[in-house]
Amino acid sequence: MQSFNPPVRTLMGPGPSDVHPRILSAMARPTIGHLDPAFVSMMDETKEGLKTIFKTRNKLTLPVSAPGSAGMETCFSNLVEPDDKVIVCINGVFGMRMKENVTRLGGKAIIVEDNWGEAVSANKLEEALKNNPDASIVAFVHAETSTGAQSDAKTLCKLAHQYDCITIVDAVTSLGGTELRVDEWEIDAIYSGTQKCLSAMPGISPISFGERAIKKLSIRKTPVSSWFLDLNLVMEYWSEGAKRTYHHTAPVNTLYGLHESLVMILKEGIENSWTRHQKNHELLRDGLEAMGINFLVNKKDRLPQLNSVFIPEGVDDVQIRATLLNDYNLEIGAGLGVYAGKIWRIGLMGYASRKENIILCLSALKEILASK
Ligand SMILES: *Cc1c(COP(=O)(O)O)cnc(C)c1O
Repeated sequence: MQSFNPPVRTLMGPGPSDVHPRILSAMARPTIGHLDPAFVSMMDETKEGLKTIFKTRNKLTLPVSAPGSAGMETCFSNLVEPDDKVIVCINGVFGMRMKENVTRLGGKAIIVEDNWGEAVSANKLEEALKNNPDASIVAFVHAETSTGAQSDAKTLCKLAHQYDCITIVDAVTSLGGTELRVDEWEIDAIYSGTQKCLSAMPGISPISFGERAIKKLSIRKTPVSSWFLDLNLVMEYWSEGAKRTYHHTAPVNTLYGLHESLVMILKEGIENSWTRHQKNHELLRDGLEAMGINFLVNKKDRLPQLNSVFIPEGVDDVQIRATLLNDYNLEIGAGLGVYAGKIWRIGLMGYASRKENIILCLSALKEILASK
């Protein structure tokens, strides 16, 4: 065997996105014990940083030691009990995974379906809430990475509360890339990921639980079926102060990476990070539209960090993406489900959301398409 030296790519797909060099070098710092007082104070800073970017005062805000999908499982496995009725809004791949989580936990999923590429419809959600007065949870994806559509989290949460439901929100792609206000929008349980708009490596899932969610957790009739993700136990490791007990060995160096990512975002300012993503989206959009390439999602519901565009007529999807990767070291994403072979998903997430990447992507596409 030999050491693995990956090629140097520009990552403009649906994730992972480019990791900032400062974060890569932070991860190369010496490993220390996960109960070392120096590490514990870094953990406290990390939690504070996460609260700031989530815009929440929730005490139960911490990074789960696993990717975004585990953040999803943490929310569902702690909050859904057998026979709970959960309204799941599906407008893409990740909503489908939420439904899978509910049914595997023995819950009953009520589906609110919207077309892929569209936002979750508040009217349809209200209809489902009216028809299911015994539902206790509403779950939806804020930023559907499979299509590039953004839903109105504030309105959906408000509706859910009017009908006495708590909310589980997927913010894996939205955190850092687009406006998100956990407390103001009254989001009860939320999970995200480090590999999308936080400029960091894959493998950590920041989560936050508010009071309503903690109450639902505390009155459970059955224990959480997952030992690893049971927040009652995880909290004993991540709780304030010195009384930490061993739960699992934290991914020490990966957490250095998250900490550095938070240092950088707080320096930039979270609102400035949203604005940067929006401005860069507009730059890419203008360039693509000038080439006659059109967007899947209507302007109002478009995510700035995930640009879904129709593949031009007569162009070979797989071949173009292979040429981009091999000749330009540039990765963009393929379409999924109904849009496989029909769209490209061009990510402008975190450190990848910068001007030189947009210029590279536009000129590479122009060159390849002109040679067809
Ligand atoms: C990427 C993503 C996930 C899963 O995150 P992983 O880190 O790949 O496990 C979940 N939801 C959405 C909306 C995502 O974009």
